[in-house]
Amino acid sequence: MKMIDIIKPELYDRFQCKGSACRRTCCAGWKITVSKSEYQDLKNKLDHTGTKTLQRMPEESRSTLVYGEFVLDEKGCPLQSDEGLCRLQLSFGAESLPHVCAFFPRQGIRCDDELQLSLTPACERVLELLLEGDKSLEFIRQKASFSSKPILRFTGKDAKTRWNHYIRIQEFCILLLQAKDISLDRRMSLLGLGLHQINEYYKNDEIYKVSGYIDRYFAMLNNSENIDNWFSSKTIDPAILLGNFVTSKVSSEGYGELLKRVLQELKVTVQLKEKTGDTSFTYSREEYKRRRKLFRIRFTEKHPYFLENVMVMLFVGKHWASLPDDSYSIWDQYMYACWVYSNLKFVLTACIKEDMEDEELLDICVILLRGWIHNERSKQEAIKNFHETGSDTPAHMAMLVQAG
Ligand code: SF4
Repeated sequence: MKMIDIIKPELYDRFQCKGSACRRTCCAGWKITVSKSEYQDLKNKLDHTGTKTLQRMPEESRSTLVYGEFVLDEKGCPLQSDEGLCRLQLSFGAESLPHVCAFFPRQGIRCDDELQLSLTPACERVLELLLEGDKSLEFIRQKASFSSKPILRFTGKDAKTRWNHYIRIQEFCILLLQAKDISLDRRMSLLGLGLHQINEYYKNDEIYKVSGYIDRYFAMLNNSENIDNWFSSKTIDPAILLGNFVTSKVSSEGYGELLKRVLQELKVTVQLKEKTGDTSFTYSREEYKRRRKLFRIRFTEKHPYFLENVMVMLFVGKHWASLPDDSYSIWDQYMYACWVYSNLKFVLTACIKEDMEDEELLDICVILLRGWIHNERSKQEAIKNFHETGSDTPAHMAMLVQAG
């Protein structure tokens, strides 16, 4: 088998699925989609079972890659046995699994003989590994063979050039997110300033300027005496985060209960303004302030690398801010990263308790990240809202990431 150059986080090889010990198995709670060829293959294998296990996606959202989906029942994938094992794998072997089941939570993107691998933090075990980490994520590069197909691939005549830009911007994101002498909130804001300019280069077809700009940006940061002076000291009201959370269009398992819990913990009241039809929220500021302090002591100080490593994994695995496409620019993707970061902090803070086990906080992270990062609708709505309200600026993002 051909040897290729693989870049991956060091913990990639330590991942092992928890199988039936997983509290939130990936076989439940969200859409499990398959490609057209997988759909046809599975149909042939499963038709004799007599139960409806697979269906085509609605026509408007059907594509070659996302063609069919499993028909889930109350416990999730209908092929799951009572012990939580996969009956498809038991009957036909691991080769019969569709890509999403065989590869999840692994993620990969490839160009020629270079491959980047990562893991999505929407998996319980991945989050546990990130929580156990006592330093910034390390990435390794090694020559190895690789047989599974990553979904994404750079193709076409300028594929290598686009790949090199992609890797360069990812390095930029990782280096800034791991600048440990600066608070994580500030690192996120600094990333925004840089990405905003990089986005301009992409918009103006001046991608060749990106690499030089990144060098100058780091030099400027190194020579700056007080980075805090780069930003306004204004912040936004956490009620905005509460509004984001309450109105986000997410239906993944556990999300509704979590929402009720936040409303209860922060003593939230929701008001509908008759004249405008707008909704506003009031909550106990005292309670939020108390929990914010508790979250810092109880969680952030105990696990100083957790949020950083979650964000690094998201920027790498979801290709946020480094792989613009027809739907989302670099800036759009960065804004959504800020949305996820601030809302994640907000909900964890709202739920924290003195005697809370880490396990419970991780479970909240799984529910939220599953709902937010594997859900196009939540992303579309959040980005649309930033643009429509004029809050799509680096200054607003700097305030947003500090608010949670
Ligand atoms: S969420 Fe992760 S640990 Fe749990 S069943 Fe899926 S792959 Fe395994």
